[in-house]
Amino acid sequence: MRVSRRGFMKLTGASAACISLAQLGFNLSPVQAYAADLKIAGAREVISICPFCSCGCNLIMHTKQGKLINVEGDPDYPISEGSLCAKGAAMLSMHNSDHRVYKPLYRAPGALDWEEKDWDFVLDRIARRVKDTRDKDFIRQNAKGQTVNRVETIFQLGTSQMDNEECALSHQMLRSLGVVYLDHQARV
Ligand code: SF4
Repeated sequence: MRVSRRGFMKLTGASAACISLAQLGFNLSPVQAYAADLKIAGAREVISICPFCSCGCNLIMHTKQGKLINVEGDPDYPISEGSLCAKGAAMLSMHNSDHRVYKPLYRAPGALDWEEKDWDFVLDRIARRVKDTRDKDFIRQNAKGQTVNRVETIFQLGTSQMDNEECALSHQMLRSLGVVYLDHQARV
């Protein structure tokens, strides 16, 4: 039988604890009952991958009735050995957050309040603003007469909630427009 490192640690840890506590005369029934009540008891366990950076740390995810109830690092993953950075560790709370935004929000110039809009509205508006800005400010040559083909009045700051593929696409799109000022929160 092949036993993974995580499985081995569980087996040896549980066995050692049971033998020593039982030998000392402790009644283990309440502990066993508590363990059965743990929130992941009976949950489906799947291995997934954190999408937030190219380390690609393994995540152990537990679901119950189609709902994500627990996320933790995978000790069998050789790169991170079960640890997660703040972003990976916050995966569950991000997934379940009341502040999670499901629809585009728009605040008109000068307005105080945000209003929900559909994707057609916001994509049209972003495209219009980018096109107008680029048409107005595109620089073909610098002061030395060298061809630069760039726009210096658009800046993009990426979010740590973008995955690698979204970042790559976003980067390629902005470079193709001549945008030179872009950064990503995950870099800091
Ligand atoms: S964001 Fe953090 S947890 Fe996720 S893959 Fe990168 S280092 Fe790992």
